[in-house]
Amino acid sequence: MPAVILDGKKLAGQIRDELRDEVADFIENNAEVPTLAAVLVGNDPASEVYVRNKVTGCEQVGMQSQMFRLPAETSTEELLTLVAKLNRTRDEPVHGILVQLPLPEHIESSRVLHAVNPLKDVDGFHPENVGRMVQGHPRFLPCTPYGIQQLLVRNNIEIAGRHVVVVGRSEMVGKPMALMLMQRGGGGDATVTVCHSKTQNLAAITRQADILIVAIGKPKFITAEMVKPGAVVVDVGIHRTGKGLVGDVDFEGVRQVAGHLTPVPGGVGPLTVTMLLVNTLAAARLQQ
Ligand code: NAP
Repeated sequence: MPAVILDGKKLAGQIRDELRDEVADFIENNAEVPTLAAVLVGNDPASEVYVRNKVTGCEQVGMQSQMFRLPAETSTEELLTLVAKLNRTRDEPVHGILVQLPLPEHIESSRVLHAVNPLKDVDGFHPENVGRMVQGHPRFLPCTPYGIQQLLVRNNIEIAGRHVVVVGRSEMVGKPMALMLMQRGGGGDATVTVCHSKTQNLAAITRQADILIVAIGKPKFITAEMVKPGAVVVDVGIHRTGKGLVGDVDFEGVRQVAGHLTPVPGGVGPLTVTMLLVNTLAAARLQQ
């Protein structure tokens, strides 16, 4: 029987419906609208789409957004000046700050991300927030792994005690994903293995996964032979091809073997944007 498709788009819609009510309550109780500042440097077409989705998402749930577009030649110092201004805002509050990645190569990304006020760090990339997550006291969880955890939990997929294999160890996806699923308690308690480009016998490890999470950035890399029958497979990859978007997983082959599978598009992507909105409301609450 082909895999059950884990519909991220539908779940994102449900979470946004919940969020709309929570935002309305927040506005009524605080006379302030949760506001996200989105900073886009340069003209990368994919980044433009991502930022537009985030800004539109804010409007859909009743929050505000401010968009800051800076030219590709912006210096690190100029960007730091803008971040400092957004950190301080009082009259026109900014609760969440999003600096769209990747930044142009000449900009020192880590200096910029470390400069964001940790209480406004809705992407969860500031070392203080990463440290809190590692120690099991999260303030803001990074949006993509947060969305994947929600997808598993809200589809009643058992995580505790199961073997999760995460393929990829990026700071944005693989590493925080592994850390979140190994935490004690709800949404965690998994036995986690992390694989990367130096891993030997990758297929032998992925075939042991009850839950296989793939974030490597290589189109259709994970094939049916690499998946244990009945496993839950989460595909984080996004690649634009002549035939539309594809993921890191060979969808047609793997769906014949897996028990559950996320599609691309319509899987992890919509949840990533939605969790940014969840974090923005959380930031607004923290700042009251
Ligand atoms: P990344 O920073 O490029 O990291 C890729 C990871 O995969 C690295 O840890 C790398 O290992 C590992 N890797 C590369 N080739 C491998 C191989 N042959 N075998 C095993 N591991 C291998 O990527 P990322 O930012 O995590 O993104 C991954 C994909 O997800 C991309 O397609 C990206 O567009 C997509 N993405 C989607 C969303 C979403 O919302 N859906 C969000 C973020 C990213 P090393 O560390 O050894 O180099």
